Order: sequence, then C-alpha cells, then structure tokens
Amino acid sequence: MSETPNSTIRRVAVVTGAGRGIGAAVAMRLAADGNAVAVIDLREQDTERTVEAIRAAGGTALGIGADVSDAAAVEQAVERIAAELGPPTILVNNAGILRDNLLFKMSETDWDAVMGVHLRGAFLMSRAVQAHQVKEEWGRIINLSSTSALGNRGQANYAAAKAGIQGFTKTLAIELGRYNVTVNAIAPGFIETDMTRATAERIGVPFEDFVAHAAKEIPVGRPGKPEDIAAAASFFARDDASFVSGQVLYVAGGPKA
Ligand code: NAP
Repeated sequence: MSETPNSTIRRVAVVTGAGRGIGAAVAMRLAADGNAVAVIDLREQDTERTVEAIRAAGGTALGIGADVSDAAAVEQAVERIAAELGPPTILVNNAGILRDNLLFKMSETDWDAVMGVHLRGAFLMSRAVQAHQVKEEWGRIINLSSTSALGNRGQANYAAAKAGIQGFTKTLAIELGRYNVTVNAIAPGFIETDMTRATAERIGVPFEDFVAHAAKEIPVGRPGKPEDIAAAASFFARDDASFVSGQVLYVAGGPKA
C-alpha cells in the first residue's frame, strides 16, 4: 500500500446517501485516498453509479441499500460492511432530505421525516459504527450540517436538525476522543446538487437563475460543488487530523451563508 498524507493504511469508510450529490463525491474522494468504501443509499440500485465509478478508478466499493432511520436496517448494513470489507472506522453521515415549508404550513409528517433521516439516521449509524471504532482504537465520524443551522426561512425542521447535528458532533467528540475517534461536522453553503435543484423547482425559479443569484451572494463568486465538500471530508479523515475534533467547518465560499 502506497503511503500518502491522506492514508497510510487501507481503512473502511461508510458514506450514507452516497448514490448522488455530495455523498457520491465524498465516497469517490475517500476511495481515491486509498480507503475501501461502503456506499449506502435508500435502494441498492441507487448506489450502482457511485460503486462503478469507484471501481473504474481502481478503488474498492460495496453498494448497500438501507434506510438510515431504520435501526434494524442500519445494524444489518454495518454487519454486512464489517463482514465483506472489514471493520468500518470512517463514517460520513451525509444522507439527507428536505421537507421545506413555512412553520404555519409545516406538517408533523414533514417535521418527523427530516428529524428521522438527519438526526435519528446520524445517531443510529454512529452508534453502530462506533462499536468497531472503539475496538480498533481509531475512528473518524464526519457529519453533514449546513449553513441553514444558523436559520433559514421555510426550513424550521431542517435548520433544527442541522443545528442538532452540531451538538451531536461536539458530544460524540467528547465521548469518543479517548478511543482515538475524532468527530467533526461540515456545514456546506450553497452546493449544486439535486437538493438545491429541488429547492429551485419548489419556489418556481429556473435552476440556472437560482445558481446565478446564489453565486452573487458568495464571496468567492461561484456556487459550491460536491467536490468542495469531499475535500473537507478527506481532511477530517486523515491520520494527521487526529487533534481536530468537535469542530464545525463552514464550507461556503465565505464566512456566512
Ligand atoms: P441529495 O442530492 O438530495 O442526496 C441525498 C442522498 O441521500 C440521496 O441519494 C438520497 O436518496 C439519500 N437519502 C435520503 N434519505 C435517506 C435515507 N433515509 N437513508 C439513506 N439514504 C437516504 O443531497 P445533497 O445536496 O447531496 O446533500 C447531502 C447532504 O449535505 C445532506 O445531509 C444535506 O442536508 C447536506 N447539505 C447540502 C447542501 C446543498 O447545498 N446541496 C447544503 C448544506 C448541507 P434518494 O436518492 O433515494 O432520495
């Protein structure tokens, strides 16, 4: 195994919601860094594109269909990863959904669905993976927060979940530090994915206009790409990032949303 600053040992990484968007880019980057990657998405067939891209680039990948908010599915998925790839020690909690609405129109179903995927999903995945990390005495948990954690009109559920992710991250960093497990969060700003495309559709703005408008507000003058988030995840996963824990890194092309 070649020695690179990012990876001296082949490790097993798990990325949730990695069938597309940010998760797919993170999975590909962690594979390029030398890790075997378990690609989780709701349905196994949705993981195929990412798995094939990793394999085509010479990497190792396993596609798994699992709903991260379902405890039994999470346990099964993590057991299968451990059996087929080895003990998972890098976890990226990326799976996410939007159910945007102003508070007075927000249904309980939409509140619960968002909490279920972002918070319960990150909790269940982290609980299952930490057993392996503690045993291996090494681990990385990287959680996807958002600039929406600071507040965003129409996103009371999502903003609450993404702020919750920050408290979750800091608490796990305290609990797991003694096992050489670091826990950090990435809070992306505007990233061009299907998620932002769906927001543009919901508010009835052509995606190109939506992106151009967002770019005007971003100090570096461009929208974010999934690869921008993958680069931050790659940093947190490095061996030599072992003293960085409990942090929230805003990756937003500037200091605020
Ligand atoms: P995306 O393109 O919508 O991809 C999200 C992925 O998560 C999809 O593949 C989706 O599967 C999967 N997923 C949804 N629910 C799941 C569940 N219960 N179990 C397993 N997988 C599930 O989103 P994205 O833009 O890449 O966002 C990725 C993460 O970054 C999310 O946590 C999001 O909140 C966060 N984020 C994004 C932005 C942005 O500007 N895009 C900004 C800040 C934070 P399906 O294809 O089956 O739906």
